[in-house]
Amino acid sequence: MARPELKNFRRIVVKVGSSLLVDSEAGEVKASWLAALVADLAKLHYERRDVLIVSSGSIALGRSRLKLPRGPLKLEESQAAAAVGQIALARIWSEVLGAHGIGAGQILVTLQDTEERRRYLNARATIAKLLEWRAVPVINENDTVATNEIRYGDNDRLAARVATMASADLLILLSDIDGLYDAPPAQNPDAKLIPVVETVSSEIEAMAGAAGSDLSRGGMRTKIEAARIATTGGTHMLIASGKIEHPLRAIAEGGRCTWFLTPANPVTARKRWIAGSLEPKGTLTIDAGAVRALRAGRSLLPAGVIRVDGQFARGDAVVVRGPDTDEIGRGLVAYDAEDAEKIRGRSSPDVMMILGISGRSEMIHRDDLVLGGTRLAEST
Ligand code: GLU
Repeated sequence: MARPELKNFRRIVVKVGSSLLVDSEAGEVKASWLAALVADLAKLHYERRDVLIVSSGSIALGRSRLKLPRGPLKLEESQAAAAVGQIALARIWSEVLGAHGIGAGQILVTLQDTEERRRYLNARATIAKLLEWRAVPVINENDTVATNEIRYGDNDRLAARVATMASADLLILLSDIDGLYDAPPAQNPDAKLIPVVETVSSEIEAMAGAAGSDLSRGGMRTKIEAARIATTGGTHMLIASGKIEHPLRAIAEGGRCTWFLTPANPVTARKRWIAGSLEPKGTLTIDAGAVRALRAGRSLLPAGVIRVDGQFARGDAVVVRGPDTDEIGRGLVAYDAEDAEKIRGRSSPDVMMILGISGRSEMIHRDDLVLGGTRLAEST
């Protein structure tokens, strides 16, 4: 299967590991690396995609601020270190995103928050509201209260859970390794990177060693578990190196990484996004023939539109209503309101004449359309 392209994703969770973010010698955040990453994130944000960050680093930063000796920490020590580090971490994200005019919202979750339905729905509603307000959620485990038996411990699986909770269509794990290899690359110079994993099979699981670095808890194993969580929940995942500057730009340009594909049709994920996450900017009222065509799986053509309401731009979400004003569905409209008004009720050749361009002829392409009956149960 071909590898997907970054530009097609609408809601992206980016997980940043401690060892990328925190310089273990200096004990401080790597400022210029972070600035470059945030420039990439800001680009996505201003392309009107939803961006969520899962950031590790609280324990690593805390231990350096507290000048704790190297070596493993006891649970209560890492909890206390996280208490100090998380404040610093939140401030850093708030400042670096703020420099791009983007608000950051801190969310600290525990395992129960993602596993108990009521709490899950709560956390999800908060995330949805932040995204609606165009703020970027910055998420970490609430390490100060999470005890051994009841915690994630690694942010790979946490990020996967958050991604499915937020109905994200892509999770990016930025790591100190550029993807999954068929053998441990450190010991094996012939090890090959696997560009696309279609199913997280037991063979794939066997390729994951247990190695983690000093600062980060997750090795390849937790990343493969994350891939399983994400892909069964309808979210594509990829592992890429975060050790370079502008890691997201590198992915967009086709750089090395491993994709884990969700078996759910990507259109479904996109439709879930259309149905569940957008504020409609206008309404198209269509005739009975167009209602039948849509229900038969076709696109909405200008000829079937009898009325255009609202101020929308090309690519905005609009509500589609039938002649009796019942909502039929929602979709991303291919024309802005002014052009839509000019071409409504007209046949495709007329549309070309009126607008003087030979653009797409659909008002809403069927891939961009979600009918009422097919809306996913977002409230479960
Ligand atoms: N939640 C931990 C922290 O912020 C990190 C877990 C991980 O490295 O995956 O320090």
